[in-house]
Amino acid sequence: MTDFVAAAEGEKENGRPTEKRTGIIRDPRYAGHCMGQEEPECPERLDVLNALLQEPGLSGCFLDISPRMAEKEELLRVHSPDYIRRLEATSGRGAVFLDEDTRTSSHSHEAALLAAGGLCRAVERVHAGGVDNAFALVRPPGHHAERAAARGFCLYNNVAIAARYARNKLGLARILVVDWDLHHGNGTQHCFEDDPSVLFFSTHQAFTYPHSGSLREIGKGRGKGYTVNVPLLPGFGDGDYLVLFERLLKPIALEFKPDLILVSAGFDIHFNDPLGKMKVTPEGFAGMTRVLLDIAAQCCRGKLVMTLEGGYNLEALRDSMREVLGEMSGRRTTDIRSIIASADPRKTAYVIWRVKHVHRKYWKTLAMSATGEPVADTFPIMERLRGDMARWMTFFRI
Ligand SMILES: [Zn+2]
Repeated sequence: MTDFVAAAEGEKENGRPTEKRTGIIRDPRYAGHCMGQEEPECPERLDVLNALLQEPGLSGCFLDISPRMAEKEELLRVHSPDYIRRLEATSGRGAVFLDEDTRTSSHSHEAALLAAGGLCRAVERVHAGGVDNAFALVRPPGHHAERAAARGFCLYNNVAIAARYARNKLGLARILVVDWDLHHGNGTQHCFEDDPSVLFFSTHQAFTYPHSGSLREIGKGRGKGYTVNVPLLPGFGDGDYLVLFERLLKPIALEFKPDLILVSAGFDIHFNDPLGKMKVTPEGFAGMTRVLLDIAAQCCRGKLVMTLEGGYNLEALRDSMREVLGEMSGRRTTDIRSIIASADPRKTAYVIWRVKHVHRKYWKTLAMSATGEPVADTFPIMERLRGDMARWMTFFRI
């Protein structure tokens, strides 16, 4: 019994990391969705990840889980009937343009059903204890998809459908959705903004697509305070992200006490991604995963399900995923303290202060500083001016 508890909570046995059973959702039918030769969201993204899983040292280390199609009832918890009919009608047809950067091919709808259903299956398996945690290697991605509109390469909102499935079908009381993709998860936020049972925490690059996710978007009605947006200027790296995760995400999450953590994992914050200007390395992704595993161990016996969103440099995607899966499976344990030491406090202090200032009335833990003092009402004026100036310069691309 002691061993089981230690394994479930990610403790170490004999000084070595405890290995976990990590499930991987994958299926060749995800390659059936193709938006065109030059599109960054392409089938090759999953080819490199499937090749990664064949590497010596990784082959045979994960439990393959086959996806299933999402059921109509599951889609309807997030999307409108008309929108579902519109997507169904694309099956078997050539290119159908749904928005300026989202289009379907003949098998796109099948892939989209498998992406949403695949994530639900991952949640089922983790909930039932068949695996400790899981990563859904699915496409198309989902976090931009709105109730009645495809947006930003996304058809169905996979993570929102899985969160509603966990709430309504599995009966879980509280779900934490963390979105670390470069872009704001507008569709996910809109789905849950008046729902206090789903906490949405998003870090994203400010002043870029989809131009939502400001700090002041905090949820509506009973959901106020359960949407936490952390927009960032370009240039945030490993230590900066980890400081934000440790000082904002972790205290809020521990106060919320989720029964399950879902992650919209976008690898477009990698320093080599063609769409972004962040500076995260594979080690940073490992560190962020470690913080999430730590939160999951403290709140929900390690129940963590991650899903692929963005990430458009194939080598960066592969190298980052290698580290994330190593962390999830307990084959490595990143020491986040050494990464945090590389953070630039000039970048993070103002962000932390602003988020605390807006959210401290919703989260007791944010009302106090790290030293136990109440959060200051004012921020040093010169630092504030510097931060605001940098934001405006970014906005106007100076
Ligand atoms: Zn993205």
